[in-house]
Amino acid sequence: MNLNKRLKETDTLLAKRRILKIFILLKQNLSLSLRFSVYLTYLCLITNHLNKTMKKLLLLSVSMMLLVTGCKFYQTRVMEYKLSQFIKEREKVFVPLTIESNKLWYTAAVSGKEEDYKKSADISVQITKIFTNKEEFEKLKSFKESVELKDPILLRQVELMYLNYLGNQTDTTKLEESIRMQSVIENKFSAFRVTIGSEKLSDNKVDSILRNSTNAKELENVWKSSKLIGAEVAADLVILVKKRNEIAKSLGYSNFQEMKLKLGEQDPKEIESVFDELDKLTKDAYIKLKGEIDIYLSKRFSIPVDKLMPWHYQNRFFQEAPAIYSVDLDKYYKNINILGVAKKYYKGIGLDVDDILARSDLYEKTGKNQHAFCSDIDHSGDVRVLLNLRNDSYWMNTILHELGHGAYAKYNNPQLPFLLRDAAHAFTTEAIANMFGRFNSNPFWIRDNLGISSEEAQKIAADCQNTARLDQLVFSRWSQVMFRFEKSMYENPDQDLSKLWWDLVEKYQMMKRPEGRNQPDWASKIHVATVPCYYHNYLLGQMLASQLYYTIGEKILGSQTPENESFTGKPEAGKFLIDKVFKPGALFSWNEMIEKATGEKLTAKYYARQYVK
Ligand SMILES: [Zn+2]
Repeated sequence: MNLNKRLKETDTLLAKRRILKIFILLKQNLSLSLRFSVYLTYLCLITNHLNKTMKKLLLLSVSMMLLVTGCKFYQTRVMEYKLSQFIKEREKVFVPLTIESNKLWYTAAVSGKEEDYKKSADISVQITKIFTNKEEFEKLKSFKESVELKDPILLRQVELMYLNYLGNQTDTTKLEESIRMQSVIENKFSAFRVTIGSEKLSDNKVDSILRNSTNAKELENVWKSSKLIGAEVAADLVILVKKRNEIAKSLGYSNFQEMKLKLGEQDPKEIESVFDELDKLTKDAYIKLKGEIDIYLSKRFSIPVDKLMPWHYQNRFFQEAPAIYSVDLDKYYKNINILGVAKKYYKGIGLDVDDILARSDLYEKTGKNQHAFCSDIDHSGDVRVLLNLRNDSYWMNTILHELGHGAYAKYNNPQLPFLLRDAAHAFTTEAIANMFGRFNSNPFWIRDNLGISSEEAQKIAADCQNTARLDQLVFSRWSQVMFRFEKSMYENPDQDLSKLWWDLVEKYQMMKRPEGRNQPDWASKIHVATVPCYYHNYLLGQMLASQLYYTIGEKILGSQTPENESFTGKPEAGKFLIDKVFKPGALFSWNEMIEKATGEKLTAKYYARQYVK
């Protein structure tokens, strides 16, 4: 089905809005004409008993009444016109800059050239400056507070623009200082290398040693060396945290964490209660699994369970699970054209991603960014992904993930304004990407797309499910540490942060702190410095991925066993996503969109159903 046809069919949202508008107009005019006839009848009835002066007075007051009612209607139209002009003028400035910045960022990621990165950074600074304009902010504020505005599309744009400006309405020196301090810390992170003896190790090498080595001394050395960056940046980071708090306080927030969440339309109390709920839901299952991990590791290193230290957990932060189950997924992808598989799969569910892949950079190159991402360059169809494809399970997951982002961006509603042709929230696009990315380890997806037999799929099903469950539970408990650490740190940056960090690690990850350790290990997690108070979104993205997965499985495909669904060859799945998630874009706030799409607000219950039971 081509895009135009689909747009016509699925454009109910805007159509409904148009009808609503006409209805409001009619209603306003109806009440106007009703009032008018009532006044006229009244006039006719009483004018016979009135003298000339009284008649004149009466006519005058009726005209005044009509004028006032009419005025309200026209005030709304005038205000809406003024606002749309204001938005149009702003769009002329920030839209071309945003597109240019996205293009430069993509080019830099492919070339790896410093001058390209510099160009891209310069434009970002220019964009930030737009939103520091005080006069425009005041205008937006008055639009936002105006009772005359009724148009939901305009109101939503005002809301989003207002939040954009609000976060930048502070002393520009403070803002610049915090950007500069963050970039100093960021540079220290990029220059830092774990050094063992005279050898400097790349991050990949560090990860590989932690995952594969069975030499306890080597593991301890590498793990401890990887934490040295924490001590290098901790003092600066505390100053930066306080600077961020100053900015937040100057804007009326109690601290930076509260500001960051509220500017992203998230209520800190609500997010905390989601995390409390997840803690309760995952605790018992995690205790059990952690017991299995400990037994596996104690055998692996031939040490008693109570002697297991953080460096035995095969990851710098124990944010990924050790491989305790024996399922080798790579063997399924070794001789497969994963690009072709991904294209065919997406086309089969009604999401054509061929054009995205055609303009994307897909394979390894010198200097090129080694990871993967998706960029919605112009919110008008120029969507690109960056990949470094190899034939293995990891890259199957990654290509499905990035194309999930890609489809979300491509199938926006071209009739919505630029600002609303975006995801409802960063975590909602992450949810779509996660939902598709997870299929790489789903035995039924592997059966439906790579042609393994049903017996084989059944044979690996338990291990696949256990691995996925282990990954999710380990990540979920680790996210608790990150979320609660940052929250408490911004509430009180003067407390003993090293103690806070290890208290949380012991409570949520149930991993023992090394005896007598008093190092700022919290500062060795780069996100604390460079992507502050964002980590919770990764977990919300996983939760929503499960909620959408069950909604499609049960409500759209009518499956009795939704856990076994791969959506392969089911265009209804793609149609649901286009209509309910992609096309509404940022028109609704994230929880409103989720409720409209799934029938419920964001809930942890589907995540628990998929991974905890
Ligand atoms: Zn992603």
